[in-house]
Amino acid sequence: MDNNTVKTVKFGGSSLANAEQFRKVYKIVTSDPDRRYVVPSAPGKRFKEDAKVTDLLYACYDRASGGEPFGEAFAQIRERYDGIIKELSLPLSLEEDYAEIESALIHKIGRDYAASRGEYLNGKILAKYLGYDFIDAADIIFFREDGSFDSERTNEVLSSVLKRHDRAVIPGFYGSMPNDTIKTFSRGGSDITGSIVARASLSVLYENWTDVSGFLMADPRIVDHPKSIRTITYRELRELSYMGATVLHEEAIFPVRIAGIPINIRNTNQPEEEGTMIVSLCPPDGKSVITGIAGKRGFSVINIEKDMMNQERGFGRRVLQVIENSGICFEHLPSGIDTMSVVINTADLAPYRDMVINNICTAVDPDAISIEDDLALVAIVGRNMVNAKGTAARILKAAAEAGINIRMIDQGSSEMNVILGVDESDFEKAVRAIYREFEE
Ligand code: ASP
Repeated sequence: MDNNTVKTVKFGGSSLANAEQFRKVYKIVTSDPDRRYVVPSAPGKRFKEDAKVTDLLYACYDRASGGEPFGEAFAQIRERYDGIIKELSLPLSLEEDYAEIESALIHKIGRDYAASRGEYLNGKILAKYLGYDFIDAADIIFFREDGSFDSERTNEVLSSVLKRHDRAVIPGFYGSMPNDTIKTFSRGGSDITGSIVARASLSVLYENWTDVSGFLMADPRIVDHPKSIRTITYRELRELSYMGATVLHEEAIFPVRIAGIPINIRNTNQPEEEGTMIVSLCPPDGKSVITGIAGKRGFSVINIEKDMMNQERGFGRRVLQVIENSGICFEHLPSGIDTMSVVINTADLAPYRDMVINNICTAVDPDAISIEDDLALVAIVGRNMVNAKGTAARILKAAAEAGINIRMIDQGSSEMNVILGVDESDFEKAVRAIYREFEE
């Protein structure tokens, strides 16, 4: 079969939460013969108060390791899977797997192992239902001794394994350590597995099926019915997801980006919608200036003042050395001739506040130093900003007209984003005002 039409498709937990959702997935996969590699999550919530299987597994593990009985929680897990198998009339029994998992829990075989069984069992069911091969992720996704993901070894092994499987289901979320124990990615990590499989299978497209039709221009909890984003670049997405726009796991971008494979976010419940396409490059098309707006509360600014600071060699380095020595990261570094500000996540700074201030005083002997809290950052992101004159003016005017005091402005050197610092109490107002200014 010609490799260059292959698609990798990943389905999230809500897309596989019950038999009805499995049927939708079946239709989607079988409606396109190029959808040859399928990565499932564990069954997610069927309704708001429902539990995700992954959370039930963590609960079982915690109880078992505290020496408590976990039978009831485990029975719930069995019920979920057996219900799906029965409703789909599949000739499959997971009894042996349940026995093995129960025994592993009793022997405290590992929290990651416990959590990974959600995807493992769901993968077995989905493979049976689709008539696809099942490939255990433990055999093809590898972590190093220090727990980091070993992308090159994984890619090498997985590429050659996939050549032997025309169509396969590969459970998401986990892989194995050099000593063969199971390790998971962080929560939501099946997105990463999908991306890894897309790269290794040389897929032309990585479809990530979830319960929303892609990315929206702003958080719908803040802006009423924001428009959806049709195309976004990896870099724009990084900016927006870092600032709180979540649909896809942050790290899922990297494997496909290496291979230049686009990601299409699609909605299992509305498969007719095109969703959002995430691409590596998209030439400025002069259409909408802004791709999206996102933001976060909970930042602090350390303001440092010193006359003639600009002529003092190593000033910035000494300040940043103090921050580094405290083991924290900084977010932004707006500066003036005699002033320098360091924006830091308030929660990260909290344990080191006094120490950082004292050490900066020792390191650079400032004329004044202070910390201001309650800052929210708003990121306005758009690849078309580079060519659009007056964008910053429009942003500032919109904020001014909404009566918002801007405490910080930072424009990324790539001219792809403008970050505003505003009082936390103005955060939502700022997002709405700027969205309205650019809504087309
Ligand atoms: N099942 C895992 C979680 O709930 C991983 C995933 O769904 O991507 O986080």
